[in-house]
Amino acid sequence: MSRALIVVDVQKDFCEGGSVPVKGGADRAAAIAELVRRDRERYVHIVATRDHHVDPGDHFSERPDFVDSFPVHCVVGGEGGEFHPGFAPAVDSGAVDEVFYKGARSASKSGFEGAAEDGTSLSDWLRARDVTELDVVGIATDHCVRATALDGVREGFDVRVLLDYTAGVAADTTGTAMNELRRAGVVLSGEPVVIP
Ligand SMILES: [Zn+2]
Repeated sequence: MSRALIVVDVQKDFCEGGSVPVKGGADRAAAIAELVRRDRERYVHIVATRDHHVDPGDHFSERPDFVDSFPVHCVVGGEGGEFHPGFAPAVDSGAVDEVFYKGARSASKSGFEGAAEDGTSLSDWLRARDVTELDVVGIATDHCVRATALDGVREGFDVRVLLDYTAGVAADTTGTAMNELRRAGVVLSGEPVVIP
């Protein structure tokens, strides 16, 4: 058995001060960096995903519903798409083995829709390294963490979400996501972080 950690979308635009801020995002970014530092040995691999938009169509809207459409965020080449400075040191230290980019031309909530710079998909990358179990953390619990964990199960991995290392947009959608994840067979550990 070999377990990887997937860090989902810990980017400036999804934290306080960004264009689609999730409260608690900056705090979780630092907590995830600490998790990476402390538990690096527990994981055979650590990877991160990045929302990385060029022209994602109606994923961007001037009148966003915050379900399917959002204000402009994480545009390729823009500052908002950079890793949050709380988490960036974990990447800069070399502890993150690969980064997977998603959403160039479409909304793309799941990290499994992402690809490394050489085009390798997340699932192919993990399978090539005999990874069978995943821990998923990041932002937001009720959006991209949810979608990544659900796809992880569909792709045949044993998936756990470490709720202490996630930030949710809202309590109701985070609760719905947790129920959905449990039903799909995802193990939830810790307590959800949702700041109203
Ligand atoms: Zn997006």
